Amino acid sequence: MRLVLLGAPGSGKGTQAARLKDHLQVPHISTGDLLRAEVAAGSKLGLEAKEVMARGELVSDAILLGMLEDRFSRPDTAGGFILDGYPRNLAQADALDALLNRIGQPMDFAVQLEVATELLVERIAGRAQAEGRADDNPESVRKRLHVYETSTAPVIEFYRQHGQLTVVDGVGTMDEVFTRIVEAIEPVREVG
Ligand code: ADP
Repeated sequence: MRLVLLGAPGSGKGTQAARLKDHLQVPHISTGDLLRAEVAAGSKLGLEAKEVMARGELVSDAILLGMLEDRFSRPDTAGGFILDGYPRNLAQADALDALLNRIGQPMDFAVQLEVATELLVERIAGRAQAEGRADDNPESVRKRLHVYETSTAPVIEFYRQHGQLTVVDGVGTMDEVFTRIVEAIEPVREVG
């Protein structure tokens, strides 16, 4: 099963992806995590990405695509994957579509986690206190929500037009949301 999770910052993509990974037995590919690992390692790419991420802006499409091509070339993705944090704009959606078609692994499903903006702000504020992520400061959060609304929301339309979109209510306990996602993708698993 090849799945992409869509949703605003704070919508719970990371949390649900981690659980889906166990359920579906496929790797969880988070572009945010991949980038944070580069930053932590102090690589050239990490140094380039660090400031951009802290500001809440998007790292360049070229860097992201290179990182993903690299990740998809690893054998553990042969049986599927859960993608989280990508695509974040239409150019990335097109590039991903082309990449997956080229390797003969087209996307099965895009799941959008829907959460109201007020609640997103509240959740990120809570996470900022708990985890102290460099980009969870109010300025960056505002920027990320803005980037989501302007650049990432059109990606939802992209998957809708491709007939791959399912919208899941992201408000509720982690278990409730997880159950909703599993129910939404289960019919596809049987076919696939
Ligand atoms: P969140 O969804 O909470 O904003 P992520 O961990 O997915 O957090 O991403 C953190 C940051 O990493 C983003 O704000 C951005 O700077 C960078 N990033 C992650 N994925 C992408 C992407 N697909 N394209 C560009 N930048 C990205």
